[in-house]
Amino acid sequence: MTSDRPTLLPRRILVAIDGSDTSLSAADQAMEFAAQIGAEITLIHVHDEEVARALKAAVPDKFEEAQWRLEDDADHLLEHLAERARKGGIPCTVRTQRGDPCGVINAVAEEVGADLIVVGRTGRRGVRRVLLGSVARRLIESSRVPVLVVTERAEEGAPAELLAPESGARREVPSSA
Ligand code: AMP
Repeated sequence: MTSDRPTLLPRRILVAIDGSDTSLSAADQAMEFAAQIGAEITLIHVHDEEVARALKAAVPDKFEEAQWRLEDDADHLLEHLAERARKGGIPCTVRTQRGDPCGVINAVAEEVGADLIVVGRTGRRGVRRVLLGSVARRLIESSRVPVLVVTERAEEGAPAELLAPESGARREVPSSA
């Protein structure tokens, strides 16, 4: 069977969200791309097992509540983004899972049949990134499908429209910010 669709165009895009501004910008850009080419999106957040371990060591008494809050915030953020995608006519599903971010993202990419993974160039992990290595870099090295690494639009000099994770409210960020 022949199709007019160029074979390199993705049909299902997996977008990795860690709540950082860069990953939210990646979600924005992935949605624009998906709308243009008629692709579907799966949003994934991995509840990082290393973060959980560090949290448990730091606040053993309040660990379960703190973990619940973190996971609940992430679930809400993903649902909010998915709703926005669906309103824009993009079929969108959501996955959250505990584990190692890179390993889980690769496994879910295979499971949902993703043919492109979109990540931000940087994330939330600050100094831990130096210790553990960048998720983006590890994905590029290990993924079986292409990985698109997105910078924040503000970094490129264009105005960026970001989502505030706490409230889900949109805000304009001037390019000089
Ligand atoms: P990092 O390597 O931590 O600087 O993060 C780079 C990018 O990887 C982020 O902008 C996200 O797109 C993705 N990422 C990092 N950690 C996670 C996570 N726990 N769950 C989903 N995506 C993640």
